Amino acid sequence: MAADSPRSTPLPPPPTPLKFAPPKGFHAELRARAAEHFARAGRPPRGGFRMYLDALVVAGWAAGSYLALVFLAGAWWQVTLAALSLACAVAAIGFKIQHDGGHGAFSERRWVNRLTAMALDAIGGSSYVWRFKHNILHHSYTNLAGVDDDIDLGVLGRLSPSHRHLWFHRFQHLYIWPLYTTVALKWQLVDDFVRVARGRIGPQRFPRPRGWDLVGLIGGKTFALSLALLVPALFHPLWIVLVVYLATMMTIGFLLAVVFQLAHSVREAEHPELPPDVDRIESEWAVHQVQTTVDFARANPVLTWLLGGLNFQVVHHLFPRVSHVHYPALARIVEEVSARHGVRYVAHRSFLGAVASHFLFLREMGRGPSIAS
Ligand SMILES: [Zn+2]
Repeated sequence: MAADSPRSTPLPPPPTPLKFAPPKGFHAELRARAAEHFARAGRPPRGGFRMYLDALVVAGWAAGSYLALVFLAGAWWQVTLAALSLACAVAAIGFKIQHDGGHGAFSERRWVNRLTAMALDAIGGSSYVWRFKHNILHHSYTNLAGVDDDIDLGVLGRLSPSHRHLWFHRFQHLYIWPLYTTVALKWQLVDDFVRVARGRIGPQRFPRPRGWDLVGLIGGKTFALSLALLVPALFHPLWIVLVVYLATMMTIGFLLAVVFQLAHSVREAEHPELPPDVDRIESEWAVHQVQTTVDFARANPVLTWLLGGLNFQVVHHLFPRVSHVHYPALARIVEEVSARHGVRYVAHRSFLGAVASHFLFLREMGRGPSIAS
């Protein structure tokens, strides 16, 4: 059961013949309770004033930071502050605007979802490639090695008991943090191009972009790199532009990587191991999503706002087409229904608690194949 896509391009065939166990009522009850909640609250599951207001605030934050960085900042500390602010704002565009848009969850209007999904192109990533990598592979087959590309760090890291163990992984809980700073740079400059050239995301095939999809990809990369390098270079020495670009992108990469990892690559999340000859996953799809995803810092409204609700990823995985402003309310329903069905729902109380769990998970995975989650 793949997450819905707001796009009209035909979806590729299922990436693998993997099937989930037949539903036993867990998902049906969740959907019924969520529908009840929306009917009682009198609010639509998508869109609404708060989504638009949040998007305006974040876009203004990013634009203000960019203008301050390029045209106002003079002293080194002003440059540092403006670049840090820009990095956080760009990450927030991803968390609060693009992610909802890409899932068709920003608005009831298709064109608004399309436009907000393209916020990713404007900040340097391809919304086309993301649709396959995130919407389909990650959301359908969460934490399944070889299919979910989000847990594939190549030889550099072992994020699943199914991944090959190499001797240096025993230090991954130490060396992985600086590597996270390369995520956005690599994504912007290398990964999208390599995936399109190969027609694959990891081992999974996907259709190469054509027509307007290709124009969007090339236009987005050109626009983002022009804003990041060309425009500043008209006003400042090139070496300063490059240093600030690298530092800003490294901060963005670190923020994105850490937030992604805290939902799935923690000790409490399951990483099902599937023998090569087995094509059926033990759990039904909705149960699999709860088992492989962990929430954190649910009671922290500032973090919830900044992350666009991505500290409530269990709800997001169960209801990918619902706007993030509803996650806190739906999380209570998910917790209740999970308890009734004997499905283990886990939430870390704090952000640091989740970070600690990610650290310990990396250390356990780095020790070798015998340590499964
Ligand atoms: Zn998502």
